[in-house]
Amino acid sequence: MNNFHGIELAAGTAAFLARPRRMLIGAEWQDAASGETLPVIDPASGETFCRVPAGDAPDIDRAVAAARHAFEAGEWSRMRPVDRERLLLRLADLLEAHAQEFAELEAIDNGKPVTMARHVDVALSVDFLRYMAGWATKIEGSTMDLSVPLVREREFFGFTRREPVGVVGAIIPWNFPLLMAAWKLGPALAAGCTMVLKPAEETPLSALRLAELVLEAGYPAGVLNVVTGLGHTAGAALASHKGIEKVAFTGSTEVGKLVGKAALDNMTRVSLELGGKSPVIVLDDADPAQAAAGAAQAIFFNQGQVCTAGSRLFVHRSRFDAVVEQLAGIADAMKIGPGIDPSTQIGPLVSNIQRQRVMGYIESGLGEGARAAAGGSAGAGAGYFVKPTVLVDARDDMRVVREEIFGPVVVAMPYEDLDEVARRANDTPYGLAASIWSNDLSRVHRLIPKIKAGTVWVNCHNILDNAMPFGGYKQSGIGREMGRAVLDMYTESKSVVMML
Ligand code: NAD
Repeated sequence: MNNFHGIELAAGTAAFLARPRRMLIGAEWQDAASGETLPVIDPASGETFCRVPAGDAPDIDRAVAAARHAFEAGEWSRMRPVDRERLLLRLADLLEAHAQEFAELEAIDNGKPVTMARHVDVALSVDFLRYMAGWATKIEGSTMDLSVPLVREREFFGFTRREPVGVVGAIIPWNFPLLMAAWKLGPALAAGCTMVLKPAEETPLSALRLAELVLEAGYPAGVLNVVTGLGHTAGAALASHKGIEKVAFTGSTEVGKLVGKAALDNMTRVSLELGGKSPVIVLDDADPAQAAAGAAQAIFFNQGQVCTAGSRLFVHRSRFDAVVEQLAGIADAMKIGPGIDPSTQIGPLVSNIQRQRVMGYIESGLGEGARAAAGGSAGAGAGYFVKPTVLVDARDDMRVVREEIFGPVVVAMPYEDLDEVARRANDTPYGLAASIWSNDLSRVHRLIPKIKAGTVWVNCHNILDNAMPFGGYKQSGIGREMGRAVLDMYTESKSVVMML
């Protein structure tokens, strides 16, 4: 296949699709033990365009055994930090060299606009791997002079070592398949861990292609293993596996709780990056045009399938009509089309289930008395399109205000004063992110500590940086990814006490 929706695919993409797609376990490309496969569906047409193995518990067992062997016995276990750094840099270079191919795989698998995939998903993944490569040589413990009271006549010396946590089971969602794989793989490889990665069943392709590059970069067999399969089979087998030391999960809060419970049963370390219902707060001094453009980017980026999507828009009453009118204008003007078309601004949602879910929310909002200032309906054709939607006249107790929709749907609501908006912004089980739009520094600074969220943006939204820790308050998760903080999630601290 070298043509998708009339767009010619890069030679590398066509070649990847022409190869049989198998799972990487150890050094071998393998089918599922059951021989079963899963369809990979084009979200822009609803048609199956290839298949991947339907891995399950026996495949997870083999992958964990391969990762265990690599961690304990193989060349990887003896590799110096500087060599881990070099390998990660090589992997980043390979990814960069194949950037167009990965952007196309994300576009045809997830439905996202290819231009965005190239400049966001692939570019951020390359940058992140390079950033984490630098950490491989900077993982440090500390030394301390001890004051042991029991044996006063002897001196003691103490130090801590940070050691790789071990075999990591990574379970990732479909909204940023490559980037989420990179967010797990980067720190794991920098720290010296090995990994079994289970991509989402909707979007397995970029993880399989990334596994090819991992081998090409020269990583020893078993350092990365990729098992494609369903969540309740392969995913559940990985989360509850007794042979892993850590589960790194990104996905919904509902599944995150199951994964967390399964991990705790084995005392497996666990980090959870979960859902959100992030507020966008526009103060009364904000320029309505800038705020509307920012609010549009906050919710429509990646079709709203972003954990930090600005899905609740609070605008000071004095600016409300102006901001909503301009936001609705932006929404109505966005070009909807297949992700592989470089001119597309809004692609289809990832799956029919997701489209039905999002349409169900829109209908529930309209049924409860909200009004669509823009959108409010599905897009034309067989693809899973939903028009960018702006809902107004909503109440705080409506489902569209309370629950994560994970689609291009924002609910705009007016407010009167800062205490009120802080209270309403926090009136959610989630606490992933928020943005504040204002140039009034003292009011912005007063508002920041009141917002219960892992990230607060000022006059921007969805801006992530490798150096900034990222994660959630409340039911948006446990732990922080990126920045120095992520190393704590992939290492154990060992205290050493020496009597001199
Ligand atoms: P999901 O929870 O349905 O699936 C995520 C992953 O978990 C998939 O690989 C899936 O196969 C697997 N899974 C499903 N059931 C499982 C089970 N019982 N045991 C183990 N694994 C299982 O989420 P999704 O629909 O793929 O992604 C959307 C969600 O992800 C949203 O809620 C979004 O907010 C969240 N998300 C969060 C972040 C973050 O960093 N906080 C980033 C991206 C997405």
